[in-house]
Amino acid sequence: MCAEKLLKFETTAVHGSKGFDPLTGAISFPIYQTATFKHGGLNESTGYDYSRLQNPTREEVENTVAKLEGAKFGAGFSTGVAAVTAVLSLFKPGDHILVSDDLYGGTFRLFRDIYGPYGIEHDFIDTADLNDVINNIKENTKAIFIETPSNPMMKVVDINGVVKLSKEKNLIVIVDNTFLTPYFQKPLNLGAHIVVHSGTKFLGGHNDTLAGFVVTNEEWINERIRFYEKSTGATLAPFDSWLILRGIKTLHIRMEKSQENAIKVAEFLKKHPKIKEVFYVGLPEHKGYEISKKQATGFGSMISFKVKNQEDVAKILKNVKVINFAESLGGVETLITYPQTQTHAEIPAEIKKRLGVTEDLLRLSIGIENISDLIEDLESALGC
Ligand SMILES: *Cc1c(COP(=O)(O)O)cnc(C)c1O
Repeated sequence: MCAEKLLKFETTAVHGSKGFDPLTGAISFPIYQTATFKHGGLNESTGYDYSRLQNPTREEVENTVAKLEGAKFGAGFSTGVAAVTAVLSLFKPGDHILVSDDLYGGTFRLFRDIYGPYGIEHDFIDTADLNDVINNIKENTKAIFIETPSNPMMKVVDINGVVKLSKEKNLIVIVDNTFLTPYFQKPLNLGAHIVVHSGTKFLGGHNDTLAGFVVTNEEWINERIRFYEKSTGATLAPFDSWLILRGIKTLHIRMEKSQENAIKVAEFLKKHPKIKEVFYVGLPEHKGYEISKKQATGFGSMISFKVKNQEDVAKILKNVKVINFAESLGGVETLITYPQTQTHAEIPAEIKKRLGVTEDLLRLSIGIENISDLIEDLESALGC
């Protein structure tokens, strides 16, 4: 027997973890649409007992995501916020967590409205500024939760810088890797302990299902996450697992194409007379450009921008035709959102103001359409 070779990212994305169904040889991993599994006799099990605990289709997508992140363990959840919730179950009342101030509104809400009252303390800080991290570590700080690039201001956090700061106090570093996916960024390789994903976004990639993942190399973390998952039940369904598996097969191609489009859209917006400012990590003048080049192999396809005249916000949202005005991101379709009232509606006004999430800010998730159609759509929406 030849030794098993470590496959490249693209091959793992296409083939998944097992590569095919060992039982039938099916190339498309089957959807094991069953709640329960027959036992051969007392103390006998196929390895599957009940789908809340584990299901073969879910297991395949979990192992695929773990492999892509270069991790030992992966757990699949019904949504991204369910995955974040599972991670927060590692902490107890009295623990303190430092959290990126510029992050997904739903994660912000979990900290403030669910876990805050339950006694888990937090501070929203600028994790892109390592001094801010140092200055806010407290006696009871247990973890640092970062999102990079951040949402919606595209700030870049130096993951390894945060990891180094966390060492002395044994803090757990958690990274939400939704925006770049393991194709462009592998936080565990940079020293982070846990990666979370909204699989709804780039991993699934088609705006057709919700999913979340928790990925780690630490056995004790995986055990706690598994225990939490089977006890609380927000597991990923077999069909949704299959949709994510199918989406992942083209992850690398979609990430490349949407990034190629995003660079062109960012350049176009930068030159447009009605645009005040463009926030795209791939622009060399972006503050996080150099760190991003050090820790990631790509910049992704999320762009935020500000218009000079605030009335243009409503005009753009009304007049785009190819681009859809809708929440969410990471799919093959280009979407535009208004963070002020949509994704970031939950964030208090003073924090939004400090971050720059102002009334003239729009966010684009660039898809894989033809670039001319996207630019012409923006041009006419801005012009008419
Ligand atoms: C969407 C999103 C989430 C939440 O994921 P859901 O699948 O919508 O629950 C978490 N983090 C980031 C960065 C997201 O974009």
